[in-house]
Amino acid sequence: MKNNKYHIVTIGCQMNKSDSERIAGYLDNLGYKNVASKDLADLLVVTTCGVRQSAEDRIYGIIPRFKKHNPGKKVILTGCLSGDKGVQRRLKKHVDIWLPITELPQLAAQLKKPKKNQNSLSGYFNIMPKYNSSFSAFIPIGNGCDNFCSYCYVPYARSREVYRPADDIIKEARSLVAKGYKEIILIAQNVNSYIFSHPSSSSLLMRRGDRREEDINFPDLLRMVNNIPGDFWLRFSTNHPKDMSNELIQTAAKCEKVCEHIHLPAQSGDNDMLKKMNRKYTREHYINLINKLRREFFKRKPAEDLWKLPLAITTDIIVGFPGETEKQFNASKKLCHEVKFDMAYVSQYSPRPHTASFNMRDNVSKIEKKRRENCLMQILRRYNLENNKKYMGKTVLVLVEGKTKKREWYGKTRTAKVVKIEKANSHNLKGKFTKVKIKQAEDFGLRGEFVKSL
Ligand code: SAH
Ligand code: SF4
Repeated sequence: MKNNKYHIVTIGCQMNKSDSERIAGYLDNLGYKNVASKDLADLLVVTTCGVRQSAEDRIYGIIPRFKKHNPGKKVILTGCLSGDKGVQRRLKKHVDIWLPITELPQLAAQLKKPKKNQNSLSGYFNIMPKYNSSFSAFIPIGNGCDNFCSYCYVPYARSREVYRPADDIIKEARSLVAKGYKEIILIAQNVNSYIFSHPSSSSLLMRRGDRREEDINFPDLLRMVNNIPGDFWLRFSTNHPKDMSNELIQTAAKCEKVCEHIHLPAQSGDNDMLKKMNRKYTREHYINLINKLRREFFKRKPAEDLWKLPLAITTDIIVGFPGETEKQFNASKKLCHEVKFDMAYVSQYSPRPHTASFNMRDNVSKIEKKRRENCLMQILRRYNLENNKKYMGKTVLVLVEGKTKKREWYGKTRTAKVVKIEKANSHNLKGKFTKVKIKQAEDFGLRGEFVKSL
């Protein structure tokens, strides 16, 4: 087949990375071949992100430039911006196919190629992905968001929440474990609101709010994945503080494959800001959740000859939301001091069309947003180092990901700390669980010596 080379550019979150893996699996199945550079491609797929204006702006560089240098070649725009009228107007001349991800099963028709395995392509979740890694995989458990946080574009881009049958998720997880995958990450915009009817009663995607007694909720799903036999780590993201139940906290702590790392976006430490953001919880509720999580995970028994890891907590915080005063920003600072986060993704507020806060005055200057971001980063660096120092002299398990530019093996702990490994050069550690004795704590990482790989 001629003109069959494709390249995918992915912008944005884990969900987008996972969507790109499904697109790659789909195109491979049609006989296309992945190439490492867009200059070699006949077909450029761009998985877009609408969370911040800067993410949107990137595609105005990439796509027209590609078309200018490759006039006869095709561009597919998918991801969060594929249905956005403003983007469609601006890139009308440059994009050949606008592809909402849920329409991926129909892409072959748009490319005018005969479909193979038509029956297996009944929904985009069922398309076999081409996983980017051979030892760690994202499994999408749902799509969309019903929460309408006032700053957020995601509910407009991905529409309402739909969840995937538990059976399909378990099947995908089982097959990954059978192939030797060591890490499974269940993902959705808000995993906590996962809900699905018992497999025997329906195989249709289900909407939130229809819960019945026999339904499977997220703690049930977590137990089911945890019960798959095999040696693998289990993670999930993202959580929403208003939906994180006691049942989930207890289940997560009891499921031994669930890693000692919880990502729980706070967005702000000020109650009035949280209200304006439409987050539907308070700072007190958030802190209470953190305390419960730490308490439950503390009850865990450590694995033999390994250190009992403290629960790592990471978060997302927005600075400079419309009307955020110095005092309100200080409440976010205080939250960072109080929780001692292991890491936070700090974003400067960026107004997005369609959202409720688009109509509020974006009155915190760019310079002030930057100052607030730097200020939080300084606090975060301090606690990161403080938390990392607890690892000194301890032996921990690391899932090795690859080599750094300096040709040193590195990987992550269950608590998502990056560890560089010394004295291991003669071994091939990629994708292996490896015991490492920590010798040094750095701002945003650890360094240790190879003990042995399992
Ligand atoms: N579902 C997840 C987050 C999805 S968006 C949640 O509930 O947290 C990822 C992160 O981008 C958000 O947590 C938020 O911190 C940031 N973000 C979203 N919209 C933004 C905006 N308009 N400006 C700045 N940051 C934003
Ligand atoms: Fe956006 Fe809020 Fe939904 Fe997260 S929960 S995707 S921040 S609307």
